[in-house]
Amino acid sequence: MRLSSRVMKISPSETLAITAKVNALRAQGRNVIGFGAGEPDFDTPVNIKRAAIKAIEAGFTKYTPVGGTDDLKDAVIVKLKRDNNLEYERSQIVVSCGAKHTLYNLAQVLLNPGDEVIIPAPYWVSYPDIVTLAEGQPVFVNTREDDGFKMSPQQLKKAITNRTRAVIINSPSNPTGAAYSPDELRSLAKVLIDKDILIISDDIYEKIFYAEFPFVNMATCVPELKDRVIVVNGVSKTYAMTGWRIGYAAGPEEIIAAISKLQSQNTSNPTSISQKAAVEALSCDQCMVDKMVSEFQKRRDYIVAALNDISGVRCFSPEGAFYVFPNVSGIYGRSSKGKKISGSPEFIDYLLDEANVAAVPGAAFGNDNHIRLSYATSLENIEEGIKRIKEAVSKLLS
Ligand code: PMP
Ligand code: GLU
Repeated sequence: MRLSSRVMKISPSETLAITAKVNALRAQGRNVIGFGAGEPDFDTPVNIKRAAIKAIEAGFTKYTPVGGTDDLKDAVIVKLKRDNNLEYERSQIVVSCGAKHTLYNLAQVLLNPGDEVIIPAPYWVSYPDIVTLAEGQPVFVNTREDDGFKMSPQQLKKAITNRTRAVIINSPSNPTGAAYSPDELRSLAKVLIDKDILIISDDIYEKIFYAEFPFVNMATCVPELKDRVIVVNGVSKTYAMTGWRIGYAAGPEEIIAAISKLQSQNTSNPTSISQKAAVEALSCDQCMVDKMVSEFQKRRDYIVAALNDISGVRCFSPEGAFYVFPNVSGIYGRSSKGKKISGSPEFIDYLLDEANVAAVPGAAFGNDNHIRLSYATSLENIEEGIKRIKEAVSKLLS
């Protein structure tokens, strides 16, 4: 079968592939502990589900305006003012089918062939392929573990060329959990201020935040840059609503209108029912978010300490999101049954075969010395999973 060269240039999302593999193994009866899926294990809060049921019963089951209903846009506007001190008009908001779709749309409306997008590495698996699909050129900036996986102003400056169209900032980050402080963002802003470069601020993990400093994005932190920032967010992670598929962008009217135009020729509106649920999520009492976050924080504390206790593993303590990204390169070179572990994919295969534990190779995020574990699973599972990893590592021969 002849397929487009466009689709041949990308790979399937590795995070989703691992989740599917775990589900298939479980269906065969294998007792796999899954650290793969990047989705909260909590159920969607009941008031949010009720809003959706009410929408169905009221017959709110037809097309809506392409870029989202006015009530959802208004809820997003209130949220951005309340949480981020940012002011927008309805014409500056567009709702899509998840933040991944928002990012895809953004790349499609912003990039011409060869336009460069700066992506700090380690990066979320989908950024490079989203850019590639729009015929853009990902430009990676390799952040250092010793710098807390944060891009320095010097690194940013070096990566900029006359083809740079945008830089993606994902704080807290998937996969590292690193979060930029207001001062760190201000120093990056100094590099960007006199350049014609857009800033895509992927704030999807905004609320899953443990740092001492407050969460800020570039638009809030450096108001002079606000007109060049596109804030991307959604309800998947904050409200345990991954399956509902609602994400949104806030930014310059021209870009938002272009996304709406594009969306009118592909998905049309995001699901009407999910939009009603998202209004409830963004507008209701937010205390359930705090409960989820304090549970995530307990798990983070446990998993970081437990991983650091394994020989050959070194784990950075994340400031947000629900991932740990331990350095496992101390294990590379060891072997099992004549097979050498020479990188993150081999180590991940070994863990699945030997310990029935699933995680994602760091290579998928642009750093082969690491693996990613999602701790969006119960503390019991985490304890059992880490015990299995420790035993499996101890069986490896140096
Ligand atoms: N950005 C990052 C960094 C993510 O980890 C995810 C997770 N899927 C997304 C965006 C997209 O989330 P969703 O499409 O579920 O809104
Ligand atoms: N973002 C989550 C992850 O990284 C969900 C899967 C995906 O869309 O990549 O695991």
